[in-house]
This record gives sequence, structure tokens and C-alpha cells, in this order.
Amino acid sequence: MPNTLFDALFAPLADRYDAFLILPDGRQITGHAFLAMVAQQAHALRAAGLGTGDRIAVQIAKSPEALAVYGAAVALGAVFLPLNTAYTPDEVDYFLGNATPAVFLCDGTKEAALAPVAARYGATVLTLNADGSGSLTDHAAGQPQTIAPVDRGPEDLAAFLYTSGTTGRSKGAMLTHRNLLSNAEVLRDLWRFTAEDVLLHALPIFHTHGLFVASNLVLLTGGKMIFLPGFDQEAVIRLLPQATTMMGVPTFYTRLLDDPRFTRDLVGHFRLFISGSAPLLAETHRDFEARTGHRILERYGMTETNMNTSNPYEGERRAGTVGLPLPGVELRVMADGVEVPRGEVGTLEVRGPNVFKGYWQMPEKTREELREDGWFITGDLGVQGADGYVTIVGRAKDLVISGGFNIYPKEVELLLDEVPGVLESAVIGLPHPDFGEAVFAVLVLQKGAVLEVETALAAIRDRLARFKQPKAAVVVEALPRNTMGKVQKNLLRDQYRDWFTA
Ligand code: ATP
Ligand code: MG
Repeated sequence: MPNTLFDALFAPLADRYDAFLILPDGRQITGHAFLAMVAQQAHALRAAGLGTGDRIAVQIAKSPEALAVYGAAVALGAVFLPLNTAYTPDEVDYFLGNATPAVFLCDGTKEAALAPVAARYGATVLTLNADGSGSLTDHAAGQPQTIAPVDRGPEDLAAFLYTSGTTGRSKGAMLTHRNLLSNAEVLRDLWRFTAEDVLLHALPIFHTHGLFVASNLVLLTGGKMIFLPGFDQEAVIRLLPQATTMMGVPTFYTRLLDDPRFTRDLVGHFRLFISGSAPLLAETHRDFEARTGHRILERYGMTETNMNTSNPYEGERRAGTVGLPLPGVELRVMADGVEVPRGEVGTLEVRGPNVFKGYWQMPEKTREELREDGWFITGDLGVQGADGYVTIVGRAKDLVISGGFNIYPKEVELLLDEVPGVLESAVIGLPHPDFGEAVFAVLVLQKGAVLEVETALAAIRDRLARFKQPKAAVVVEALPRNTMGKVQKNLLRDQYRDWFTA
């Protein structure tokens, strides 16, 4: 029976008697053994009531067994729904209520807290612990080691992936077999992935980056993954010599640059470093090249579309940009309902086989963001240069309109970040009686630095038009971030809402 994703990603593992996953303790799991685990789990999940088209939600630690659950869900024609491991029971309640899965899989240590939540929505609860043990593994033992996958075509749903919740409540993006496979195929060709690649995988697998961009690509191309439960600096330094490629968020790279053991020699053999999920500072890009001789390839993606743009493999990897639209993905820059000329800022829209089918149970949100002709309004603001390179300037929701002028917070933040003593900053717009909104800066200082807010603002005054200058600022210990490390400006806007109006 044809099953689009299973046939492309999982079935080929049957003939792989070499390592597919390399674990930090040195253990290796062959492709063949991994596929047997997928099959056994699939039989166990089917016995637990997971049928074709049903949803399976998981909140489990990253492990080979956890990745196998993804394969098992695909084999059964179910819809896979991974949840961030940091979510509290209250948050899980929202997701289970929204998704009403047939089966919910959680860590054994959380079963007591989560079983009543799952029961409320009629889900059968199974456990899978960080070490691979749990009731799912118990049920899987003794099951057949092969499975005939359920018939599933390109337009059938494969996953609901919840957005990170940076700008508001997370939304469940419905992704089809075609959405996921088309992206992996494009990346294989673009980034030249082959069976020779060994990917250092330290990203979470509940997010699009680690699950679909990274794991799908390696599954498709027959390579190996060094599979780390998280970004453990010691393990990463120790294992980099065995890897040839790495995908990470910008903080992985800044943390490596802070480590004197991260040298040119350590990664002289490397083929490719890739960064995404958040902006990579041009400074990090430069420092990384100076240290290692490698130019990080930055790309841009999101839950709803997997990947939109990438810097080229050959050709210029331009610092501060997210590169060019992927082959087969259309991109346009819009303002007031029309496409703007190259070089001007607007909202980025994308269309292509990667674009999701809508938000689960949110028809209005879907209508607002996904046009009938297939264009998806990303909510990101950007510019496309004459040569096609795209630069992200921020989120549309974060744009500040003060006295009728548009202000892109990132421009102000980059200047504030250069002020001696400032570690990082977040610039937001707050309600203001005269200007509609006024620019407000939230500063985090470097350790031990003493800096008056007034001094910081004065330091950038000559470098910015008056209307862009923050009218006030505060110093805080740390910026609020979600679990993917993204700054949650909506929380800052709520906190300081009355600053100019009180
Ligand atoms: P929510 O949609 O719930 O508010 P979110 O948009 O942060 O959360 P994700 O889908 O995980 O959820 O993140 C996608 C967003 O991450 C993009 O829309 C973009 O703003 C940002 N992003 C991803 N890659 C890059 C990059 N290379 N440079 C700048 N921003 C990036
Ligand atoms: Mg988003």
C-alpha cells in the first residue's frame, strides 16, 4: 500500500544495517533496528485504539523511541501532534482540548498530573520515559517487527504542529504528507545532503526545526544522526569531530563561540553549519567564520510552512539575510494589499507545496492568514533586495506606528545593543495620548555594568531620526522568552501598557 511519507522516509531503513542513530553514550541503532521499533510501536498504538486519521498527541523527552513514535504514527495513517516538553498541565489541557487526540503519550513522571487532563478529552494515556521505558515500550515488546503501512496519499494529514506561541496563543498548523515531503526533497538538493552526512542533532523534536527540517531530511537522504537529548555543550564539543553537518538555533552558535575548545581544528572536516528559527546576528556570522573558516548558512522557516528561504550552498551566504526563496516556493512582499517594489519593506507572503492546510479548529484565523489563492501571510516583515536576497526586519505585530510613521524595532534594537554596557534590548510600541504609539525600550545590561537609562538613550540619539527614538526605557534582569528562546513582546506590551497614559 502506498503511504507517501512512510515510503519516502521510513521504509528505506529496512535495508540499513549500519548506524542510523548515534547516541551520546556511544550506543548505535541501525536503521533496521529502528524500523523494527517503529513497527512494534505501531502495533501497540493500534491496539491502544489509534486508528487511521486519528490524532496522537505526545509530550515526551527526545529519545530514539520518541522519534520512532513519529514513524509509527505515519505508518498508521494517524496525525502526529508533538507538544513542547516545557508545557505545564494547564497548557497541555488547552492543547488536548483543542486537538482531542485518541491517544496521549507522556513521561511516566507526569502521568499522575496529566492522566486526568487526558481523560477529560477521552484520550487513552500511555507513557514513554526519557530512557525509552514506559507502558508503550512494554506493549510494543513481543509485537511483530514489521508493519504494512496504511494507505495515505500526498494530501492526507500527517501532523498538527502547534506554533511556538511567540505572538499569542499557539495555533495547530495542519500539515500534509506532501507539505513535509516536498520540503525535505528541496532541502536535499539545495544543501546537497547524501547518505554520507552525519548530522549533529541537538534540537528538540517537538518543533518544526528539529523534527521536520532536520530529521525528515536525514531520513530521506539515508544519513546518520548524532542524536542528543538537548544542547549539552560537553557532549557537543566531544561529538563534533564525528559529525559533518549541524543544524541549530543562533544560541547554539554563540555558545560554541564562547567555548575556547571550539577551534578551527575541531571542525576543519565539517561540511555545513545551518542556522534558523531566530535571527542570527551578522556579528555571530562574522565571528564564526573568523574562528572556524566556515560561513554559517542561515535559513528562514516557520511551523506553517516548514521552510521558506535559504542562503545558497554554493554562492554567497550573506550575513544578516535569510537568503533566497526555496525552489518551488513563491515569495512576495506586500503592503496595503499590493506587492511593493524590490528594496521596500512589507509583509512576507509565501505560496507553494510547503504551505499548510489551515489552523485546526480556527477557521477565522485560517481565513485571515491563508488566502484562497494559496498565499500565506507569514506575519513577518521583510525586504527582498534586487538580487532576490530576503532580509527579515521583524514581525508585523511588533511594528510600531508613532505619529503616523512606521518604526521597525529591530533597527532601534541593533543600535541599543551596541551601547557599551547593554547586553540586549527589546523595542516595543506603547499607547501614547499624542502619538498613538510611542517607542519604548526594555534593556538588559551586561553583567556588572552600571548604566543609566538616560545615558543609553542619549548614546543613540544622533544615529536615529527623532520619531524612532525611544521616549522611555527600563532596565530588566532578562527578557521574557518562550521555550524556543524567542522574545515574547506581547508580554512586555501588556506589562508596560500604561506607561505613557497613566
Ligand atoms: P506564533 O506563530 O505562535 O506567534 P512563532 O511564529 O514564533 O509563534 P514558529 O513557527 O516556531 O512560531 O516560528 C516562526 C517564526 O520564527 C517566523 O515567523 C519568524 O518570525 C521567526 N524566524 C524563523 N527563522 C528566522 C530567521 N532565520 N531569522 C529571523 N526570524 C526567523
Ligand atoms: Mg508564527
